[in-house]
Amino acid sequence: MSAPTSAADAFCGACGQGLRDASHQQCPQRLAYDPPRFCTACGKRLDVQVYPAGFAASCRRCGATDTAQSR
Ligand SMILES: [Zn+2]
Ligand SMILES: [Zn+2]
Repeated sequence: MSAPTSAADAFCGACGQGLRDASHQQCPQRLAYDPPRFCTACGKRLDVQVYPAGFAASCRRCGATDTAQSR
Protein backbone atom coordinates (compact mmCIF):
# COMPACT_ATOMS: atom_id res chain seq x y z
CA MET A 1 0.00 0.00 0.00
CA SER A 2 2.83 2.37 -0.74
CA ALA A 3 1.95 3.56 -4.22
CA PRO A 4 3.70 6.75 -5.21
CA THR A 5 1.41 9.73 -4.88
CA SER A 6 3.33 11.95 -7.26
CA ALA A 7 2.22 11.71 -10.88
CA ALA A 8 5.52 13.09 -12.07
CA ASP A 9 8.16 10.84 -13.57
CA ALA A 10 5.97 7.78 -14.05
CA PHE A 11 7.51 7.22 -17.48
CA CYS A 12 11.01 7.38 -18.88
CA GLY A 13 11.80 10.53 -20.83
CA ALA A 14 14.26 8.69 -23.05
CA CYS A 15 12.36 5.59 -24.16
CA GLY A 16 8.78 6.29 -23.03
CA GLN A 17 8.32 3.06 -21.10
CA GLY A 18 7.13 2.96 -17.52
CA LEU A 19 9.91 3.40 -15.03
CA ARG A 20 8.94 0.11 -13.45
CA ASP A 21 8.18 -1.71 -16.69
CA ALA A 22 11.64 -1.87 -18.18
CA SER A 23 15.29 -1.50 -17.35
CA HIS A 24 16.60 1.89 -18.31
CA GLN A 25 20.31 1.32 -18.14
CA GLN A 26 21.16 3.57 -21.07
CA CYS A 27 18.44 6.13 -20.53
CA PRO A 28 20.11 8.42 -17.97
CA GLN A 29 23.12 8.65 -20.26
CA ARG A 30 20.91 9.52 -23.21
CA LEU A 31 19.10 12.17 -21.23
CA ALA A 32 22.42 13.66 -20.17
CA TYR A 33 23.11 14.93 -23.68
CA ASP A 34 19.79 14.55 -25.50
CA PRO A 35 16.50 16.25 -24.72
CA PRO A 36 13.72 13.99 -23.48
CA ARG A 37 11.61 12.42 -26.21
CA PHE A 38 8.70 11.23 -24.13
CA CYS A 39 6.51 12.81 -21.50
CA THR A 40 7.50 11.62 -18.04
CA ALA A 41 3.95 12.17 -16.80
CA CYS A 42 1.91 10.29 -19.42
CA GLY A 43 4.45 8.53 -21.64
CA LYS A 44 3.34 10.12 -24.89
CA ARG A 45 5.80 11.47 -27.40
CA LEU A 46 6.79 15.07 -26.77
CA ASP A 47 7.02 17.90 -29.24
CA VAL A 48 10.67 18.83 -28.87
CA GLN A 49 12.33 21.92 -30.27
CA VAL A 50 16.11 22.02 -29.97
CA TYR A 51 17.91 25.35 -29.90
CA PRO A 52 21.61 26.13 -29.82
CA ALA A 53 21.17 27.20 -26.21
CA GLY A 54 18.91 24.41 -25.03
CA PHE A 55 15.56 22.85 -25.80
CA ALA A 56 11.87 23.20 -25.18
CA ALA A 57 9.62 20.17 -24.99
CA SER A 58 5.88 20.06 -24.56
CA CYS A 59 3.29 17.31 -24.34
CA ARG A 60 0.20 17.67 -26.49
CA ARG A 61 -1.70 15.23 -24.36
CA CYS A 62 -1.27 16.49 -20.82
CA GLY A 63 0.38 19.87 -21.36
CA ALA A 64 3.54 19.14 -19.43
CA THR A 65 6.56 21.13 -20.48
CA ASP A 66 10.27 20.69 -20.05
CA THR A 67 12.89 23.25 -20.98
CA ALA A 68 16.60 23.64 -20.51
CA GLN A 69 19.02 26.44 -21.14
CA SER A 70 22.65 25.56 -21.52
CA ARG A 71 24.13 29.00 -20.97
ZN1 LIG B 1 14.07 4.43 -20.44
ZN1 LIG C 1 2.13 14.19 -21.06
